Amino acid sequence: METVHTDVAILGAGGAGLRAAIALAEADPKLRIALISKVYPMRSHTCAAEGGAAGVIKPDDSLEHHFHDTVAGGDWLSDQDVVEYFIREAPRELVQLEHWGCPWNREPDGSVAVRSFGGMQKQRTWFAADKSGFHILHTLFQTSLKHPSIERFDEFYATELLLDEGRCAGLVAIEMRSGRLVRFDARAVIVAGGGAGRMFPFTTNGAVKTGDGMALAYRAGVPLKDMEFVQYHPTGLPSTGTLLTEACRGEGGVLLNKNGRRFLQDYGMGPETPLGKPVFKTMELGPRDRISQAFWHEQKKGNAVPTQWGDAMLLDMRHLGEKKIDERLPLVRDMSISYMSVDPVTDPVPVRPVVHYMMGGIHTDIRAATPLPGLYAAGECACGSINGANRLGSNSLTELLVFGRRAALSAIEHLQSGAPPASDAALAGGAAAAQARIRELMQRSGGGETVAGLRKEMMQAMEQHAGIYRNGEGLAEACGKLADLRRRYARIELHDRTNVYNTDLLQALELGSMLDCAEAVVASALERRESRGAHQRLDFAARDDAKFLKHSLAWYGGAGAPRIDYAPVSITSSQPGVRDYSGAHA
Ligand SMILES: Cc1cc2nc3c(=O)[nH]c(=O)nc-3n(C[C@H](O)[C@H](O)[C@H](O)COP(=O)(O)OP(=O)(O)OC[C@H]3O[C@@H](n4cnc5c(N)ncnc54)[C@H](O)[C@@H]3O)c2cc1C
Repeated sequence: METVHTDVAILGAGGAGLRAAIALAEADPKLRIALISKVYPMRSHTCAAEGGAAGVIKPDDSLEHHFHDTVAGGDWLSDQDVVEYFIREAPRELVQLEHWGCPWNREPDGSVAVRSFGGMQKQRTWFAADKSGFHILHTLFQTSLKHPSIERFDEFYATELLLDEGRCAGLVAIEMRSGRLVRFDARAVIVAGGGAGRMFPFTTNGAVKTGDGMALAYRAGVPLKDMEFVQYHPTGLPSTGTLLTEACRGEGGVLLNKNGRRFLQDYGMGPETPLGKPVFKTMELGPRDRISQAFWHEQKKGNAVPTQWGDAMLLDMRHLGEKKIDERLPLVRDMSISYMSVDPVTDPVPVRPVVHYMMGGIHTDIRAATPLPGLYAAGECACGSINGANRLGSNSLTELLVFGRRAALSAIEHLQSGAPPASDAALAGGAAAAQARIRELMQRSGGGETVAGLRKEMMQAMEQHAGIYRNGEGLAEACGKLADLRRRYARIELHDRTNVYNTDLLQALELGSMLDCAEAVVASALERRESRGAHQRLDFAARDDAKFLKHSLAWYGGAGAPRIDYAPVSITSSQPGVRDYSGAHA
């Protein structure tokens, strides 16, 4: 098997992976950096982000405000020391992007423009129209091209991490165009593999978001943290799940039920406010978990708007006017017309909650380090945790930058710590075992199970039992179902046994990742007998700080169920309180 010798291997070339690569190259141009991605970097999901990235910049804002919004938004499950680091670093990272060429929108006086976002009391979301992710990723990608020490391995699919003596020392990947396996020996590995929303049937997530990075770390013995917290975004197009950014509401769009009522006022999200007036905290700028839950109740009351794709609510942006919509939300207009045949300038657009983001992920600390020496993680696949039980929109893009860089700095510290090189025999043994597993999967026959069949059953179980509201009975059923699906996975048969771009094989591997992540989600959700943020239990409706102010950790159980235990939450200055979005303090 071909071996690539490198200092740091990065799994993933989205926002987090690229930011880490640049930080490594800048710190030491002599470092050999392998940037491994199953898609061309610009096709990573970061490209799809619309609304923007949060960082304090305006004189009426403060780090304390950003801290409080993030911690309260996360229902006090965020690690507050990590949040403090994050908000401090955020403005520097966004200015850095500006210097690398990111075309942030401007105020008339030339300063950086910011917009409102849900759960943020102040305007602090930097944006580039409604294509912020595209511009951020492009800026990072073009900056990475300036560094010859970043060697790219595009369309390489990582299948396993390599370990030696209790530390991570590389990974194995399939070159997709040839099917050959390549071993990457690395003194440190950074996982930046993105989220896992594809385990649900209705999601904003691109097809690549199958939780591979999480699953690789999990199988290597690193726990997945807070996996029960899955974010629904309130405004997806019912036809496709395509996202209409929160910036629609940040710019003044409102949500209506079938009677034309701004129903969020009935769910403790504040009094009705005049259209077009910027308001903070209240109504449509409430946090995503609360708004998605309010929709669920409206649906139960029969107040939803029926569409051919199921129940919806209406996002009304007509009062913003064509000029503002074209300037600030051009992609939203485009997509509403293309996918729903509705022009937001003249008609309200039907929308409904859609799976969007994983708050949970690979257990990391403030240094982006996992408990496995030599292994770091950043971006959506990691859980540091700044997002707690519910992420505020626009914190994620900034998180990629802050912790992508942090992971790089920690990896360098690790290299400098003088750990002895890994044993060639151990790495060769690990790589050979990985190769044997792939061969076995490709040659298996007679089992009769298909990737598409199992994937559909997994998605149905997740939607039915691990959605906006959950209960013990449903979650227990989902645990049983997923255990069964994992058993049946061993009997999957591939139709395609060739080597060139074998998408059948890749989808089978992705399904394996999703099943592992999904099992961690439902097992953690079953054990958390309280309601907090995005995890709402109908049988345990209240938050229970006495028992559950703690992070869940799901440990890989091999052929058996995951083992769940807990880790403390770091609290520095904000004691758990009531999340108040009534507008009383606006
Ligand atoms: C539609 C949409 C809009 C959003 N809008 C916003 C917003 O406005 N503001 C905000 O803050 N957040 C937003 N988010 C969330 C945010 O965009 C994501 O959380 C973030 O971009 C994830 O970045 P990442 O670098 O962690 O992962 P990604 O950008 O998803 O990149 C993952 C990388 O991992 C690679 N990879 C994965 N598995 C493998 C494997 N097995 N082998 C090799 N490579 C692999 C992929 O090729 C890819 O390069 C949005 C998300 C979506 C879906």
